[in-house]
Parts: sequence; structure tokens; C-alpha cells
Amino acid sequence: VPGTTVELLLADNSHSHLGRMVSIVPEDGAVPGCPVDAPNRCVAARRSHPVVFPDSEDLDACPLLRGRDDCRCTSACVPVSIMGRAVGVVHAVRDVAQPFSDEEVQRLQSIANHSGNRLGVLRIMAESQLQAATDGLTGLMNRRSFENAVRRLRTEGIEHSLVMVDLDHFKDLNDTYGHEAGDRALRVFAQVVRDGLRAEDLACRYGGEEFLIVLPKTEVGEAIDAVERIRVALAAASGRGSTPHFTASFGIAHSSEASDLEDLVQRADRALFAAKEAGRDCVCIDGHPQAVAPFMAFG
Ligand code: GH3
Ligand code: MG
Ligand code: MG
Repeated sequence: VPGTTVELLLADNSHSHLGRMVSIVPEDGAVPGCPVDAPNRCVAARRSHPVVFPDSEDLDACPLLRGRDDCRCTSACVPVSIMGRAVGVVHAVRDVAQPFSDEEVQRLQSIANHSGNRLGVLRIMAESQLQAATDGLTGLMNRRSFENAVRRLRTEGIEHSLVMVDLDHFKDLNDTYGHEAGDRALRVFAQVVRDGLRAEDLACRYGGEEFLIVLPKTEVGEAIDAVERIRVALAAASGRGSTPHFTASFGIAHSSEASDLEDLVQRADRALFAAKEAGRDCVCIDGHPQAVAPFMAFG
């Protein structure tokens, strides 16, 4: 559509804001784009139907078209839809002296249709990628995506602490309160972990009621502090509502001690075993049989 300002505006995830994704502005002093900021403020998106406004001075013109840099203009606004739901708009605007032809509106419609179809495919792909990388019950990373991420850390030479966690007496919890309560407990634990970690930390459900956490650029001492915060937060979070009280044991190892990821996981697993032996609900580090947290465990 030559000599025309054309924009693609798309809604964000919350569907409450429109963002300008692409705009094509002609070189010779164009009419400014549309200031619309939400799908429900756009007539075309609301009606899920293309709308042409022949003249911004008309009484029934879109209010957002009026007074745009004092230009008298015409616009063609075509909704972009995914599975029938308007998620954005292709908006074309130019001087009132050049009305849009039916053929031009059809062309815009075809761009909007293509955009909607392509966006639908991309969203499904993004969703299935996320599903393939995460554990369905807890939303944490799954084992495969976690191992890939940790290998990347190793390749980049970034030292890290690895924490292996196992929920205590989880079989008893299932037997006493039922499998549903067990599933809720797993979700509660995942949320406590998420709340307690930094953005750069990685957490995965390794299997069953076992979890792995990687803290990049973190020495064992700081890792103990981080894990102890999670242990204490779990004590406060579990036992609330319909989830029974439960605890977890933690084993910590550092990448500088390990030859590869497998060795690192084995070291953390041995430390975890020591934590179970030391009475559970506590933290052990690789190579030390006594629990380092809580400090009472020394007594
Ligand atoms: P310990 O303190 O020594 O770790 O004892 P434990 O009972 O936690 O260990 P054990 O390995 O004997 O039992 C693990 C239990 O975790 C058994 C299994 O039913 C339960 N479990 C594993 N995955 C899930 C799950 O996805 N949902 C539920 N509800 N339970 C699970
Ligand atoms: Mg286990
Ligand atoms: Mg267990």
C-alpha cells in the first residue's frame, strides 16, 4: 500500500495492551500511526471486522483518528485474529485525498490473515517447546532441559553449586493423606524453591520427589545460606491449607570438585544421603558426613 503509514499492533499476553510490532512509514512526511493502546479501544478489533474510516472529520470517524497532528486523514483498520479471537490490528492511514480502494483493503485483510495464521503457529510452537522443557506437575525444568542448561554453564566455564533435594518420608505422606495430597506437596515445594531462587538459578524435578538446583557463581558457603532459606521457608509453607506438613533433606556439591556433570550429581547425591543419615530436614555438603544446617544438628 504505497504512500501509506501501515502498522501491525499486537496484544500482549494479558490482552490488555497493544504494542506496535512493525510499522512502515513513507518517506515523504507521513500521517502518524495510531495511538490506540488496548484491543478493546480499537473498533476493528472489538468488532472482529475490517473498518474503513473515509475522513477523520466525519462525525462517526474513529475518535483516535481525529486531530492526529492536525492531519485530515483516512484509515483502514483490519483485525488480526488467532482462532477467531482478535489479538491485534493492521492499521493503514494516509491523507484524506487518497481514499482506500476495495482492492487495497483486501490486500490488508490478506496480510492480517497471514499474520494471524503465522502467529497462531508460532504460539503453538512456543507452547509445545515450553511443555517439552518443563515438568507438567511442578512447572520446574525437566531433567533433560536442566542437564542441557548445566552443560552450557560448564562449557562457558561458569563455576556453580549443585543441590540435590529429596522430600522426607514422602511415601508415608502419600500413604497417610493420599496421592493427591502428595502432588500438592510437590507443587508447594516447587513454589518455595522458585520464590527462594535468583533469576539465574536453575531448578528441576529430577524424578519422583527428587529435585536438583544449580546456583551459578555460588560458593558452597553461600549455597548453604540459600538452601537453609529454602528449608526454613518450606517449614512455614507446608502444613498450610490442605497440604500436610513435610520436610526435605539437601546435599550440596561444588563444580570445582567434580570431573563432569555425572560426578557432580553423584557427589550431591552422597551428601544428600548423609543428610538423610543425619536425621533428615537438614543440609550436608560433599565430603562432610555431619549436617551443616540447621546448626543444631551438630549437637
Ligand atoms: P526418605 O525420607 O528416605 O526419602 O523416604 P521416602 O518415603 O520419601 O522415600 P521413598 O523412596 O521410599 O518414597 C518416595 C515416594 O515418593 C514413593 C512415591 O510414591 C512418591 N512419589 C514419587 N513421585 C510422586 C508423584 O509424582 N506424586 C506423588 N503423590 N508421590 C510421588
Ligand atoms: Mg527419593
Ligand atoms: Mg524421599
